[in-house]
Amino acid sequence: MRIKAVLGVWLSGITLAWMAVAPPDLGLSALVDAQGAAVGWWQLRQHAMYLSGLWSISLMALAMVLALRLALLDRMMGGMDQVYRLHKWTGIAAALTAIIHWGARESSGWIKEIWGRVGKPAHEAVLPWLTDGRGFAKDLGEWAFYLLLAMVALTLLSRLLPYKHWRLLHRAMPLLFLALVIHAVALMPLSFWALPLGLLMGTLLALGSLAALWSLAGWIGRSRNHAARIHSVQVLGDAGTDAPIEVICAMPPSWRGHRAGQFAFVRFDAAEGAHPFTIASAPHALGNSPQGEPLLRLVIKPLGDYTRTLHRRLRAGQRVDIEGPYGRFNGKGARRRQQVWVAAGVGVAPFLALLEARQPGVAAKVSALAAVQMHYCTRDARHDPLLARLRTLCAQALPSVRLTVHSDAQGQRLTPQDLQGLPGPLDIWYCGPQGLGDALHEHARGPSPWRLHRESFVMR
Ligand SMILES: Cc1cc2nc3c(=O)[nH]c(=O)nc-3n(C[C@H](O)[C@H](O)[C@H](O)COP(=O)(O)OP(=O)(O)OC[C@H]3O[C@@H](n4cnc5c(N)ncnc54)[C@H](O)[C@@H]3O)c2cc1C
Repeated sequence: MRIKAVLGVWLSGITLAWMAVAPPDLGLSALVDAQGAAVGWWQLRQHAMYLSGLWSISLMALAMVLALRLALLDRMMGGMDQVYRLHKWTGIAAALTAIIHWGARESSGWIKEIWGRVGKPAHEAVLPWLTDGRGFAKDLGEWAFYLLLAMVALTLLSRLLPYKHWRLLHRAMPLLFLALVIHAVALMPLSFWALPLGLLMGTLLALGSLAALWSLAGWIGRSRNHAARIHSVQVLGDAGTDAPIEVICAMPPSWRGHRAGQFAFVRFDAAEGAHPFTIASAPHALGNSPQGEPLLRLVIKPLGDYTRTLHRRLRAGQRVDIEGPYGRFNGKGARRRQQVWVAAGVGVAPFLALLEARQPGVAAKVSALAAVQMHYCTRDARHDPLLARLRTLCAQALPSVRLTVHSDAQGQRLTPQDLQGLPGPLDIWYCGPQGLGDALHEHARGPSPWRLHRESFVMR
């Protein structure tokens, strides 16, 4: 809803600013005049081309700024996951409006074929020092448009390209944006640089270009990056290469702490780049290293190409860059609602931190917390390396956390219907695979008085 509202306000703002500089009647009184000239059609084509071009480049500028992971945007959107979702939908909207722009441009062929070229407006004057660049700017825009479409298609059709190759390709988006800025500046009519559109577009293109250069320089998240050290690494359980690993990180003095339930972007290896992992320990719960560095825990499951290699790569003493913390997954809902935590697989990580924050001696303001019903879904409870710790943490939690374990191997799969019997309106905190999250979401949208909290990251 918030995403639709932002995009709606954005497009309306650009449209209003364009209307302020466009001719009052838009020249559309008759699409074809008495002499058979398609004056109105040519005007319509021209307006559609300009307006959709403004929409598209401004949306791309917004997407560039959203990619910066700014704390201000995190606050405004109610979480970094929402910023990511807006970034994705802004990119899709930019591609769709670019298709309209391209379609309007190509429509000259059939207007000419049906009515002839009479009535076609002459080229609009552009910024004087760019007049000779028209041909180059057109070609540049056309190629950048094809590449933009290819990029959006590869994003949506995730089967076509593995995530890690897609991510490398995606890092070239700022270059594409800068090419489209050249296209827009060189071809935007001189009249559009008048107030208010000129100021609006000038600001957006400048901000978007700065964001693109920032991103190309690899400076995103720089102010929140901390050069930490691996304190220890341990493989959990006996499932061999499928076993999760626990990495304890020693944080430098620049680290200002985190809240239970937050995550960070973690870079073990400069060539690989950062991956998001939950901080699976409560603040201060692990104490400090002998050198006085605060410690925090990551629990990493080998879910993909890179994470499968980590148990071989990581050693105590290695440098690790930790950017964050981010996120608002705090497990606290409205007091009058029953709090339900649902964890599946490694989605248990934020709950480990929330549970540690409830342990005697660590818990700061117990009175501000409510009792919780927790559901943990695991493949096989008999071999789950995290279950014993989870049971102990739940047994000692203050206020109480009642744990129910659903073991797939024993045919105890959790369904939304299993939660229906719980009394009162529910606040459900979910972390785990997309499928179960979507099933809970569907149920929460129905007649049940549920409120579902989950960080819906759309990394692609
Ligand atoms: C907020 C958040 C918190 C997470 N916390 C944990 C945790 O505590 N423990 C844990 O084991 N896993 C966690 N994950 C998942 C973890 O980030 C991915 O499993 C990991 O990045 C996979 O990398 P890969 O290269 O091995 O997998 P790949 O095979 O390359 O990719 C598998 C999937 O992982 C995701 N992914 C891969 N690389 C990245 C990346 N650099 N950034 C974002 N997503 C990526 C993509 O959705 C991709 O489709 C978390 C994810 C998010 C979004």
